[in-house]
Amino acid sequence: MTLMKQELLRNLPKVDELIRDKRIEVLMEKLPREKVVDLVRDAVNSLRIMILEDKISDSDSFSYDLAVETAVKEAEKAMPGSLRPVINATGVVLHTNLGRASLSEKACERVMSVAGNYSTLEYDPEKGERGSRHSHVEGLIKKVTGAEAAVLVNNNAAATMVVLAALGKGREIIVSRGELVEIGGSFRIPDIMEESGAHLREVGTTNKTRIGDYEKAINENTGALLKVHTSNYRVIGFTEEASLSELRTLGEKYGLPVIYDMGSGLMTDLSRWGVREPVAGDGLRSGADLVLFSGDKLLGGPQAGIIAGKKDLVDRIRNHPLMRAFRADKMTFAAMEGTLEDYYDKETALENIPVLRMITESYDSLCDRALKLKVLIEDIPGSQFSASVIDTDGAVGGGSAPDAVLRSSACAVDCGNISAETAERFLRSGAVPIVAIIRDGRVIFDVRTLKDEELYVIRDRMAELASAGEKQA
Ligand SMILES: *Cc1c(COP(=O)(O)O)cnc(C)c1O
Repeated sequence: MTLMKQELLRNLPKVDELIRDKRIEVLMEKLPREKVVDLVRDAVNSLRIMILEDKISDSDSFSYDLAVETAVKEAEKAMPGSLRPVINATGVVLHTNLGRASLSEKACERVMSVAGNYSTLEYDPEKGERGSRHSHVEGLIKKVTGAEAAVLVNNNAAATMVVLAALGKGREIIVSRGELVEIGGSFRIPDIMEESGAHLREVGTTNKTRIGDYEKAINENTGALLKVHTSNYRVIGFTEEASLSELRTLGEKYGLPVIYDMGSGLMTDLSRWGVREPVAGDGLRSGADLVLFSGDKLLGGPQAGIIAGKKDLVDRIRNHPLMRAFRADKMTFAAMEGTLEDYYDKETALENIPVLRMITESYDSLCDRALKLKVLIEDIPGSQFSASVIDTDGAVGGGSAPDAVLRSSACAVDCGNISAETAERFLRSGAVPIVAIIRDGRVIFDVRTLKDEELYVIRDRMAELASAGEKQA
């Protein structure tokens, strides 16, 4: 080791000394003392590593202040917590990595009101006795979908699992080969089926399955007919599938329930906006005895799985032991109640539920917002950024409506002497990460998933990037 290195290592500031620094002391008002001490220790350690790896060799560039600054910077990042908001500039409305649906104001208010208080989760204040957690949303689900009964679990994967376990354990469930879906890498119909104890009975082919294929497979051990919506892909060309009404007729003939895993939980028709997904209530009206769907896809609510349909079937599921393992918590019920109340009025639902608002926003209105961002970015003093408004193809995302292209508008920024990769990384590294896209050497902000107030946050962060870039240059 060189003398210089030894000298630098010897001069590393002491943790005890650093935590008495005023700049570090103020951090302890906002973060736990232990956490601040850890951050300071990490800062000193990273300096030590930099010295050992020859990243710091000049004694002038290394000081006590650098350790303080590093710790303060890390503390600022740690302050908002690990799970925190991000700004989604990808234009993907249901971004699974970014928490799928943002909740409506009403849903958020309901969560706030029960989160820090005791609640009526399983209490009936009128009778003064125990109530059911499902009662808070069952009436609303019945109203929106027309179902006789409904229950709510943690997600649609859990819904599928408990339905198959309750209605199909030890029996055969008939599914078309064209509908053996995989969603998000870990939800696979054949695997869920196996875990539930039901036996998968595949019929038909990938592209064509007729009602006669189901009928031929029915035997004394058949438990149910399952239809799965192919949410994240489409089979096109020469295709054929059995309709729900054909399945119902067959189910009635043999006394078998028809279960329909719909995936998305769309509550109101969006075909005018190019989103051709089945509406939950239509699934029941067209012949399903039970429909299952997610709460945080096109429904626009919290992560949840909803099981709705015939009362005798829902009751069997409600009493299954897995329900205890899959039950959702008070925050989920509160958010779902608020979201479903937003559906009382279908027109205002399109405005009040963020997922629906984003999908149905007009192209003109999106262009206006992209233009606003362009002007904000171009007005950043002293930057070399040039921005333009471009057309983009947005997506619903979250494994919903894979063929729907949402014509959208974006602000594309050429960052001058700063590369798009550097800019994109910088945008992600703030206290509120901004997730943008890189295309053709430019940073793209798709405005469909941006709120007006977020445009200013993006502008401020871009201004920081401009001045950071200037320092480097
Ligand atoms: C998304 C989806 C699921 C899984 O739902 P989660 O709520 O993510 O668990 C199951 N089935 C279908 C058809 C889906 O589209």
